[in-house]
Amino acid sequence: MFVKICGLMDPHTARFAVQKGANFIGLLFSKVSTRAISLEKAKEIVEAVRDAGGEPVAVFADESLDEMRKIIDALSLDVVQLHGDVPRSFCDQIPQKKIYVADGKELPKSLDKEKDFLLFEKSFQDPQGFRFFVAGNLSAENVEKTIQEFKPHGVDVSRGAREPDAIADFIEKARPGRFGPFGGMYVPELLIAPLMELEKAFKEIDIEKELLDLLKNYAGRPTAVTEVPNFAKAINGPRIFLKREDLLHTGAHKINNSIGQCLLAKKMGKTRIIAETGAGQHGVATATACALLGLECVIYMGQTDIERQAPNVFKMGLLGAKVVPVTTGAKTLKDAVNEALRDYAASYETTHYCLGSALGPHPFPAIVAKFQRVIGDEAKRQMREKIGRDPDLCIACVGGGSNAVGLFTAFLNDKVQLVGVEAAGAARFQNGSPGTLHGTYSYLLQDANGQIQETHSISAGLDYPGVGPKHSELFSTGRAHYDVCNDEEALQAFQLLCRTEGIIPALESSHALGFLMRIAHQLPKDAVVLVNLSGRGDKDVAHIQSLCK
Ligand SMILES: *Cc1c(COP(=O)(O)O)cnc(C)c1O
Repeated sequence: MFVKICGLMDPHTARFAVQKGANFIGLLFSKVSTRAISLEKAKEIVEAVRDAGGEPVAVFADESLDEMRKIIDALSLDVVQLHGDVPRSFCDQIPQKKIYVADGKELPKSLDKEKDFLLFEKSFQDPQGFRFFVAGNLSAENVEKTIQEFKPHGVDVSRGAREPDAIADFIEKARPGRFGPFGGMYVPELLIAPLMELEKAFKEIDIEKELLDLLKNYAGRPTAVTEVPNFAKAINGPRIFLKREDLLHTGAHKINNSIGQCLLAKKMGKTRIIAETGAGQHGVATATACALLGLECVIYMGQTDIERQAPNVFKMGLLGAKVVPVTTGAKTLKDAVNEALRDYAASYETTHYCLGSALGPHPFPAIVAKFQRVIGDEAKRQMREKIGRDPDLCIACVGGGSNAVGLFTAFLNDKVQLVGVEAAGAARFQNGSPGTLHGTYSYLLQDANGQIQETHSISAGLDYPGVGPKHSELFSTGRAHYDVCNDEEALQAFQLLCRTEGIIPALESSHALGFLMRIAHQLPKDAVVLVNLSGRGDKDVAHIQSLCK
């Protein structure tokens, strides 16, 4: 769904709109419009829009041919919107891509179905095979209904989206599953039906009460927040608190999501759950939730990972799950996701795909983020109880991004610095670029031809070439910062937390701690830091022991 916003009058708001996911920003010049802007102002807006990755569009109504040419040239525009009153000869003469406001009269011959759009003001007319926008008093309140009714390729809004909040609202309604330009549902036709069904169920089925009960009485929520003064002293840092997801049943935050999705699936009438797993953590969490809820469970796992992670494979078996070896590609996580998606497309009438991180096509990033936001909601409350305010800095490791999004969501609108820490060998934000993998558009490690690159990290949970789309949005808008931690720093932090506090952190979580170790001495002494300890390190002990030999 394309979103075009007209009548914005300053570069700041225009940039915001593009960052939120608007594709086209319409500039008005006509003297009769109260939202008309000068050419100078237009230059500033065009620069901001292009810089943010959007497309500026001149909207012409009653300008003279000379004026129109002058504006197009001065701004080097690639797209123009033409009203039916603009002479057809002008439309035929210019090479720019056109959004043509159809008024029922014959269309100019030069319009190209491959390239150009029609736009219908108010009433719907025959699009004659063209892609088209609808317009006419759209707003966040009516855009969903309009899209359902007209099934357009784009929506055009002006008055209904002028201020930042209204713009954000409108775009979210028009393009659900989008995080600015990121996210989406880039999947083969076969997967659309199951994903739409899932989106509907996620919106409509209320599982909150049962989920709260299971999180409390089965998984062990709320998890503690622990201050770690010995660790803080050892790294010459300020006050440091840990959100203790390591204390959860199965040893990490992943169970929050697995229980949530499996419960939802059961309410949807599904009897079979499939999931992908790399190191086996999500596989174990999902097998656990399935055992609890009486659901059949099939876990796809790369053959290479099966050999590396024998204890988790055995655990999944104990929990009654079937582990299916994947022998395509590099036989690791990426290939396991592909197999799981293939199974889902063929079996969704009985089966739910329980995806393990805030990744993949819409609605998965939204679903996983919702089930993980309990981390941040709890932590925020707990910090206010402990110190009477929010922390200054929140840090979380970022694999696919679920534990980080779970923590960050509660603090997005506060004056809290957010830092996501990637493994140095899987640094999507430092070394990657936007692209599409596993159904979502987000930052990726890819070569010049778009081939996915191999990643390397001592911690299996951070070893993935893509990242959740919400993080790409937070990165591109600057709301969160992303840094890296290498294997050695993570190991040092791992050992230090064990020795100083009697807590064995997961290697993934040790990346967040390793980053903090590096920067701690630069922080103001009265700062308060909250680190999400996403999991416990029992699973990593044997591996670390083998490295120490
Ligand atoms: C899987 C895992 C991660 C990484 O996944 P995210 O979706 O980025 O949270 C981090 N920590 C632990 C303990 C894990 O098991």
